[in-house]
Amino acid sequence: MKTSETNFYSVEQFADLQILRYRVNGFELLSLNQKKLIYYLSEAALNGRDILFDQNGKLNLKIRRMLEAVYVNYDGDRTDAEFLALEVYLKRIWFSSGIHHHYSTDKFIPGFSVDFLRDAVMATDKALLPLSEGESVAGLCNELFPVIFDPELMPKRVNQADGEDLLLTSASNYYVGVTQKEAEDFYAAMKSPDDETPVMFGMNSRLEKKNGKICEVVWKLDGEYGKAISKIIYWLEKAATVAENELQKEVIRLLIEFYRTGDLKTFDDYSICWLKDTESRIDFVNGFIESYGDPLGLKASWESIVNFKDLEATHRTEVISSNAQWFEDHSPVSPQFKKPEVKGVSAKVITAAILAGDLYPASAIGINLPNSNWIRSVHGSKSVTIGNLTDAYNKAAKGNGFRDEFVYSEYEKELLDKYADITGDLHTDLHECLGHGSGKLLPGVDPDALKAYGATIEEARADLFGLYYIPDAKMVELGLTPDSEAYKAEYYSYMMNGLLTQLVRIEPGCCIEESHMRNRQLIAAWALEHGAQNDVVSLVVKDGKTYVVINDYVKLRSLFGELLAEIQRIKSEGDYEAARELVEKYAVKVNPVLHTEILERYRALNLAPYKGFINPVYNAVTDNDGNITDVTIDYSEGYAEQMLRYSRDYSNL
Ligand code: ZN
Repeated sequence: MKTSETNFYSVEQFADLQILRYRVNGFELLSLNQKKLIYYLSEAALNGRDILFDQNGKLNLKIRRMLEAVYVNYDGDRTDAEFLALEVYLKRIWFSSGIHHHYSTDKFIPGFSVDFLRDAVMATDKALLPLSEGESVAGLCNELFPVIFDPELMPKRVNQADGEDLLLTSASNYYVGVTQKEAEDFYAAMKSPDDETPVMFGMNSRLEKKNGKICEVVWKLDGEYGKAISKIIYWLEKAATVAENELQKEVIRLLIEFYRTGDLKTFDDYSICWLKDTESRIDFVNGFIESYGDPLGLKASWESIVNFKDLEATHRTEVISSNAQWFEDHSPVSPQFKKPEVKGVSAKVITAAILAGDLYPASAIGINLPNSNWIRSVHGSKSVTIGNLTDAYNKAAKGNGFRDEFVYSEYEKELLDKYADITGDLHTDLHECLGHGSGKLLPGVDPDALKAYGATIEEARADLFGLYYIPDAKMVELGLTPDSEAYKAEYYSYMMNGLLTQLVRIEPGCCIEESHMRNRQLIAAWALEHGAQNDVVSLVVKDGKTYVVINDYVKLRSLFGELLAEIQRIKSEGDYEAARELVEKYAVKVNPVLHTEILERYRALNLAPYKGFINPVYNAVTDNDGNITDVTIDYSEGYAEQMLRYSRDYSNL
């Protein structure tokens, strides 16, 4: 039973990647119209796939198609080392929508030879190869091979190295023949200092120099990517016919208008309308959204997610936020630092139904949009966490050996198996819905008084608020934890992570820089030290391996309460010196001997550091007249199978 569940979530592993599968819980319970809406929106999502490949590099699509033709039709030995290396290379290209790593953006180094690929391409039926008009197979090889094999050519998709021309040295396809200075001047000239509602200039176009003149090639229906955009519009129009309400219909209409015209003002109108739509069960993003792929942060990569509200999990965050005042009043913080009136934030938890573009296969687990600064300050933003993806991460991690390696004894392992999924989510909810919003600054205190230490102190404050309350009887009373033992799972995993296992993300010889990681070590190391006298928590070495042991869970809670009170004081008073001392003493430095040990133990587990998801398959069931009578969901598709199907059915560019 357990094994097959694990296999469901964990599909396969290659290079530094693990492919997971997520479950769309609750899909079957949706109404027929809602299912149709998801089906149409997911078709709109999948039809944009090729856009991102082209945005990530101008030869990506051609390389992908050549390799897919070879991969599918190869009739040599498919267990040969060179063929297997080609398979891994192609799988990596699918994963990152191009020939560069999705995270580091470094170009992949093929594990097969030039001769092997040349022979394999030559042996492939010419009709199946992506030949341009009049191009010979030899010409195709001459065009693509240097890009694949020469490490000097297009080495990085996004270059951020200070002092270099970031556009000329980046392989992404957002600027052609334009220097960084030219692009910066081009967009600086568009901005007006008095415009309080500026559109996001440049987000939906490529900037090119043609005959000495710089111009934008806009991504729209009758412009660049028009073939893919026309398919997206086709499915969005169908979606509009089954929209849940008038507002959602208007959201879809504005998005279609934006895709037709490329007009950025329309995009802002769409974003504002989308923000207002909070009542619909189903929601989606489809368009040019995030700008991480552009060194200048202007050009937006294409992505889509279709989702629906997870009513049960959203209820959980609503319960928490509706009791916000009770939590504020009962916290161990000194009364003068408490808010007399506090409002909890109700985060929406969603279930992803399809992922596409820059959210596929690697996906975020939380999304906060829109990105326009003025819209965010005037109209706010929508913030969601994607519950079923977190759940898939958790379930896939079961049985991967991580807990067996780092958790001290059977007692703690049982605690984690029984409660850790629930308490982990709950701690995140408490952190987001209550922690950040609690407490107040004393009058006259500068909100930036803690300067560079501010972010770590703020995260610690939110984490401690959650840690302090998880064991509270109120949690059981509100139905948020099943019993009074559950909190121990979060305490153990928090201390283990903060003292030991989060170090796997730090390179040897480095210290901790990221503020969430600093906050976790701050709390864990402080509690370890301050509980030492009473042996509350200890680091125990067994067979040469270091483990966390919590001897007194109740005392650990009072230590968290004590630190919460102090951290809130530091924040409320803007006590920079105290913040600096705490962070520098507990949060930054890493014990090199322990670090080496943890890295070695982690490496031996052979786990992939990066993960991504394959989508389920939606099938429309139709009656004799072609009307959709049901939409069914199927999870049986494999990774390569899915990628090849997408390349066949959604190859629009
Ligand atoms: Zn936070």
